[in-house]
Amino acid sequence: MDAMTEKNMVLVVEDERPVRQMICYALSRAGMAPIQAGCSAEAQDILAERGADLIVLDWMLPDLSGLELARALRRQEPTKEIPIIMLTAKTDEEDTIRGLNAGCDDYMSKPFSPRELVARIHAVLRRRVAHPAREQVLTCAGLRLDPVAYRVTHEEQPVALGPTEYRLLKFFMSNPDRVYSRNQLLDSIWGYDVYVEDRTVDVHIRRLRKALEQHGIDHLIQTVRGAGYRLSPPPSSSPGASSE
Ligand code: CA
Repeated sequence: MDAMTEKNMVLVVEDERPVRQMICYALSRAGMAPIQAGCSAEAQDILAERGADLIVLDWMLPDLSGLELARALRRQEPTKEIPIIMLTAKTDEEDTIRGLNAGCDDYMSKPFSPRELVARIHAVLRRRVAHPAREQVLTCAGLRLDPVAYRVTHEEQPVALGPTEYRLLKFFMSNPDRVYSRNQLLDSIWGYDVYVEDRTVDVHIRRLRKALEQHGIDHLIQTVRGAGYRLSPPPSSSPGASSE
């Protein structure tokens, strides 16, 4: 079946190394591509850099708990859709409910059989294929943003973006040629976070341009004096959503 022809990238977040390695070994044997993270911070870095098709997330972690991480991921645009299977030593029904409320797709109590975990991963991924995300691939002047894979490329070359820069770019690519003020961008990109100032927008615009500069396309993001920012493709290329 289609979902299995390309190797599924599974992020395994677990601080206990033997458990993590056991899981990764089982996933590799099942034809998946596991990536390891020993704590929440490491997991977030990996997700910001390359995304994942699914996350196996332990509840007890040394920094942010698995539950808190799951909640944070569900609030952010690029990670919102990634399925999560939570691992836990807690067997209380109430904890299970909390995990599922935090947006986890499935739940397994330790100790568990790696084979069962693999079976559950397959089941969750199959459900995903049956209900694909509605989001379209966006293209503009050689740039391609795939919201499902959480991947940005320019002429096939990957563009490295932080999570906020990704959201900014996605917003601009969804609304090309329109000028947005700092306040409009704050509302659209940061929304829930009340602690950011106008200057924050400039900082992230600068980072976004820097990332695009590596590909020679930083001119796409333009400053409109006294008004704000916009993404404007060169006249020859046609912006908008492709039908992929
Ligand atoms: Ca643990």
